[in-house]
Amino acid sequence: MPRHLHHICQLVFFLALVVVGVQFIAYVFWALNLSPTFVPRPPCVEAFLPISALMALKRFLCTGLWDHIHPAGLVIFCLALILAFLRKAFCGYLCPFGALQEVLFCFGSKLGLVRPLPKWIGRIALMPKYVLLAFFLAIPISLTVPEIEEFLLSPYNLVCDTKLALFFLKPSTLLLAVLALLLLGSLFFPSFWCRSFCPYGALVGLLALFSPFAIVRDPQSCLHCHKCSASCPQGIQVENFVRVNFPECTGCLECVHNCPKPNIIKLKFGVRSVSPVILPILVVSLTLIIYIIARLTNHWETVVPLEMAKMLHEHIEQISHF
Ligand code: SF4
Ligand code: SF4
Repeated sequence: MPRHLHHICQLVFFLALVVVGVQFIAYVFWALNLSPTFVPRPPCVEAFLPISALMALKRFLCTGLWDHIHPAGLVIFCLALILAFLRKAFCGYLCPFGALQEVLFCFGSKLGLVRPLPKWIGRIALMPKYVLLAFFLAIPISLTVPEIEEFLLSPYNLVCDTKLALFFLKPSTLLLAVLALLLLGSLFFPSFWCRSFCPYGALVGLLALFSPFAIVRDPQSCLHCHKCSASCPQGIQVENFVRVNFPECTGCLECVHNCPKPNIIKLKFGVRSVSPVILPILVVSLTLIIYIIARLTNHWETVVPLEMAKMLHEHIEQISHF
């Protein structure tokens, strides 16, 4: 059971996301007058609005004011940053895209599609996500707090979740091609999107470098069987390192569980060995605690009245930018 905690977490959050997705689409259909049935908008969809959350975070840091337009988005963004101190655990345990890519890579491995990249190409392939991260960070950094407040209160920000849903519900040929490329790439390369392109993962991964948790291998006892490296969903060659402290390591602990002998690879907190179950337990507990606090303190539900949301949806085609 402990060795499957990582997969159980991924499955639970993936299924939860499917429910949230279906509920949100039903809400969008109601808001656009395509269905008479009202379905409440699930606040969790705000997890897919990281630029809005970045803006709201800068405003919060500068003024102490929480964003009440997409409050859950800011909560989830802060949760991802906090979980970085548990080794980029947001990506490894909660993110549905991470889970999907692990499944695809598993299929790719079973079909014999996986080919190791030359080291230098592998290193270059890690870079695009940092370029994207720099681009997205530059947006809130370059804006003043009043400009950010103008954005947060703009009609565009109020309906950007629906805009995003329509972007995927009515996909362009380019979007379909990009999605197909990402899905295909995930069959051939471990965590293709996360490792190479995800700016969210890049930010969380950089913070994870300061995590007190790390995977540590004992080179003296190692059998060099390659099982740790082969099982790593991030493609890290665990077997070549004593301490794995890379931005890509999600703390999934597959390397620990797949090592044939106990105590060769361990999870360490600082210099102390700790039980591998601690990490998933901390991830789930912290996620639930933060979620419950956000709900109890009114930092979860948007304050945008339903009538206003409905009115904005009637003009959604005209709302293109703020
Ligand atoms: S190094 Fe180990 S804990 Fe880190 S991502 Fe790879 S398998 Fe998971
Ligand atoms: S799985 Fe364990 S024994 Fe095998 S190479 Fe990795 S650390 Fe060494």
